[in-house]
Amino acid sequence: MTLISPNAPTAELQALDAAHHMHPFTTGADLAKKGARVITRAEGCWLTDSEGERILDGMAGLWCVNIGYGRKELAAAAARQMEELPYYNTFFQTTHVPAIQLSARLAELAPGDLNHVFYASSGSEANDTNIRLVRTYCAEKGQPERKVIISRWNAYHGSSVGSASLGGMKGMHGQGGVIPDVHHIDQPDWWAEGGDLSPEEFGLERARQLEAAIEEIGPEKVAAFIAEPVQGAGGVIVPPETYWPEIQRIVKKYGILLIADEVICGFGRTGNWFGSQTMGITPDIMTIAKGLSSGYQPIGGSVLSDEVASVISGTEFNHGYTYSGHPVACAVALENLRILDEEGIVARVRDETGPYLKEKFESLAEHPLVGEAKIVGFMGSLALTPDKAARAPFASDAGTVGYICRERCFANNLVMRHVGDRMIISPPLVLSKSEIDTLIERAWRSLDECHAALKSDGLM
Ligand code: PMP
Repeated sequence: MTLISPNAPTAELQALDAAHHMHPFTTGADLAKKGARVITRAEGCWLTDSEGERILDGMAGLWCVNIGYGRKELAAAAARQMEELPYYNTFFQTTHVPAIQLSARLAELAPGDLNHVFYASSGSEANDTNIRLVRTYCAEKGQPERKVIISRWNAYHGSSVGSASLGGMKGMHGQGGVIPDVHHIDQPDWWAEGGDLSPEEFGLERARQLEAAIEEIGPEKVAAFIAEPVQGAGGVIVPPETYWPEIQRIVKKYGILLIADEVICGFGRTGNWFGSQTMGITPDIMTIAKGLSSGYQPIGGSVLSDEVASVISGTEFNHGYTYSGHPVACAVALENLRILDEEGIVARVRDETGPYLKEKFESLAEHPLVGEAKIVGFMGSLALTPDKAARAPFASDAGTVGYICRERCFANNLVMRHVGDRMIISPPLVLSKSEIDTLIERAWRSLDECHAALKSDGLM
């Protein structure tokens, strides 16, 4: 076996990558020409690439490295578990200690009576579980015709065909199709879609689309509504304050299940353990992944209320993954939850670094290119615009300006992501105040450079 050396020149690593490795959500041919950035190691909130550059990770990987990189305790937990019991399944009436411990801990942390966990290896898998779960729940309650799940355009619930059907990303629906009995309503994005309404009026209007959809489909056919407490991959869309109370009223009125997709919002991201707590939501099911293990191991799950779990437990649930409750992933997740708790990381985001980041991040709205700066806890979004007062989009295709800005961030050794012409952050929850200053300073510089480029290219 001949393996390329980790210390090989960047160009050689990139060429081999382009030859054999297919990247998610990427136009491979374009990337092959440019060459992917090779990340070699990471510590705290900082990445190092194969050129030795140190890059501030404003996205916590993919919104997941909540405790930051390089925590040896998690490596030790994985090694211990691998030596003791590297794998066993939880099918056929067996269990193991890491799954028992993690489930009990999650029941303690999760709000209300969300006390029961069904494991998966990712958010996508967990949302696929939810599709089968809510339909089985309704069938077991004697209402098998209740199959429809209502979701929102521009939501992200995963990449498998089932979970992407729940999501509202048209580009994904166009590649591979959509499963039946899923219906989408509009998102509560006041900046882009609010028109002349106040945010409060608009929040109510968008929430009431749920009621209209239920009435149109027929309440006897609707099983559940799924939503992220704060949309993440859609661009960190923070809903107006009127939105969630109205949604909660409607799901209660029609007796449909509420699934809070906490894959991003969970485990401290919004300043509480769960986004549902920040937004005042009482879900029947929560989808979890990402911050559950801070991304150190692939693990996700569905957390069910006592009521939902008792109904599902009354039948054989024909569902499960080889790696449901993988012992190493559970052991690492437990250690991650211990650190989040004992080091007061979630409380610090709520009380100290979150408010500090909010103040600094909102000051970016003074930049001539930024119309709106919205942030909840450690997830934030800047809407770029050529005309703040009109909340106008750019004349160029959506995403053109965002891409330019993201490239400037990259050049300034800051990872920010663009969603259309929004720039978003979701840093590790251990980002310090001085690192927050660095992030804001680099973001401002990147916005300046983007602004200058737009003017010189006639895009503004
Ligand atoms: N739900 C939400 C809200 C997400 O943000 C994501 C991933 N970005 C998923 C589900 C899918 O998770 P995974 O990529 O682990 O399958």
